[in-house]
Amino acid sequence: MSNIVAIVGRPNVGKSTLFNRLTQTRHAIVSDEAGTTRDRQYGKCEWEGKEFSVIDTGGWVVNSDDIFEEEIRKQVSLATEEADVILFMVDVQNGVTDLDEEVAAILRRTKKPVLLVTNKMDNNETWLAAEFYGLGLGDPIGISAATGSGTGDLLDIVMSKFPKKTEELPDENIPRFAVVGRPNVGKSSIINAFIGEDRHIVTDIAGTTRDSIYTRYEKFGFDFYLVDTAGIRKKGKVSEDLEFYSVMRSIRAIENSDVCILMLDATRGIESQDLNIFQLIQRNQKNLVVVVNKWDLVEDKSQRVMDTFIDAIRERMAPFVDFPIIFGSALTKQRIFKVLETAVATYENRRRKVSTHRLNEEMLPLIEAYPPPSMKGKYIKIKYCSQVPDTHVPTFVFYANLPQYVKEPYRRFLENKIRERWNFHGTPINVFIRQK
Ligand code: GDP
Ligand code: GDP
Repeated sequence: MSNIVAIVGRPNVGKSTLFNRLTQTRHAIVSDEAGTTRDRQYGKCEWEGKEFSVIDTGGWVVNSDDIFEEEIRKQVSLATEEADVILFMVDVQNGVTDLDEEVAAILRRTKKPVLLVTNKMDNNETWLAAEFYGLGLGDPIGISAATGSGTGDLLDIVMSKFPKKTEELPDENIPRFAVVGRPNVGKSSIINAFIGEDRHIVTDIAGTTRDSIYTRYEKFGFDFYLVDTAGIRKKGKVSEDLEFYSVMRSIRAIENSDVCILMLDATRGIESQDLNIFQLIQRNQKNLVVVVNKWDLVEDKSQRVMDTFIDAIRERMAPFVDFPIIFGSALTKQRIFKVLETAVATYENRRRKVSTHRLNEEMLPLIEAYPPPSMKGKYIKIKYCSQVPDTHVPTFVFYANLPQYVKEPYRRFLENKIRERWNFHGTPINVFIRQK
């Protein structure tokens, strides 16, 4: 189960500088796949061989004066609900401000671990941090996000604060589904449609509280876990149209799932908020089933209208386009069975193994007919390929004499050819070119 660290604090204290520093630790290790853009709100940090998520709450603040303070308060409250560890950042060069006091007041009420991070101690000016003891959040941890000094010690403390109790792992052979989407799209409704109002819970995993993130169901002949339904059912006091809200609520569910059921609202089309959640799904390399919900409200249900929808979705989500799109209604229960059936099918696709023999037999003649373009006068030869065993995501390696000369379009060509030949509908796959 993954952990989440949230960075909170008023503007200009250095949140995004720290965020960049923490998330770069990972980017140094995992090469960025072409086409994915890094945003400043959400990223992964790797430290001492463990990975966790980092959220920069500052990334969402709309910078206009009057809504601004209220917005910060909301985001701090939300972040404390969803994160495992909260980094409260202040600026030692500025001293304690009114807004710092306000944020501290909210944070003193949480039971979650809060670390008071005094930033901009570029020359280890420890005396500057003294006045921050008054915030009542324990010893300040001095860092310089700009130079990086103190951040290693900070990460050690962060790791020590993660909850010890690890949730019992669910049965690995049963898929974990997360229903995600922006507020009011119909997530609670579809969950009710899946499981019925009677909520047939087969088992609560032993030793977990009602905050458990996995609940197991047997419905319509399918056996599955729903991830984090409590978080979805719980309607927050905060403004629900806040973009930050739906993202915060989605992160944990997505990270702990195998298949994400992304709900879109047929009456609204696809908007940036939907795309943000889609990007979270993609970056965590989860399976995707898109449900265009509230289809009952659309008058013209012709194929032409459906095709327009499908084209718009695929265009916005390119280059990942090989996933199912289902038009349905949580309210009338139209195609609810189909959604579950499809989610299970994509999970099976994720576990698909292609034998080395079959893979080479199909792919090598293709590669011979359409070889990678030669670069700098050198021929690029791919002689062999295989699927890597025991990976979370189906992963294929093609061995080449000069892998660095095989460019993204050709890699994508190979991926598409694999997808044409074997059914990986709804699941991400990795294709790597390596030295033979
Ligand atoms: P945010 O609004 O909290 O995300 O703050 P930013 O990360 O955007 O930083 C605000 C300003 O403080 C920028 O000009 C940064 O370069 C600067 N800054 C951030 N960290 C440090 C630091 O450790 N030392 C110094 N001197 N400046 C910093
Ligand atoms: P959530 O915030 O994503 O959990 O959304 P809800 O499930 O609470 O639904 C928000 C509103 O949309 C409620 O009034 C639902 O009755 C309504 N709703 C949900 N699904 C459908 C649907 O398929 N058709 C129609 N007409 N209304 C729906």
